[in-house]
Amino acid sequence: MGKNCRDWDTVDFYCINCGNKSIPLARAGNKRKGKGHRKNMYCPTCRHTVNHVECRNIYEVEEFLEDFKNGVYQDEARAELEYEEGNPRLSALCSGGSAGVR
Ligand SMILES: [Zn+2]
Repeated sequence: MGKNCRDWDTVDFYCINCGNKSIPLARAGNKRKGKGHRKNMYCPTCRHTVNHVECRNIYEVEEFLEDFKNGVYQDEARAELEYEEGNPRLSALCSGGSAGVR
């Protein structure tokens, strides 16, 4: 008892490009950021620095995944990667689903 560190929460960060969970960070619980706070960090899955959405609980995770599925982050993620890389190599990375679209 008498634990003093319960103000520290671990928050998860979800990559807006691949939708996978990245490295969780410890955050002071009293320092509230708005919901859906973004953080630019390295995604081990994409192997790029991309924006991540901060999820502090399961509901925010679900909301993020829902948005992600609906393509809410698509344009933003692409802009991120193009900005980061500025390199045509990336188009190979994105050519997964939409073959035939010009
Ligand atoms: Zn990613």
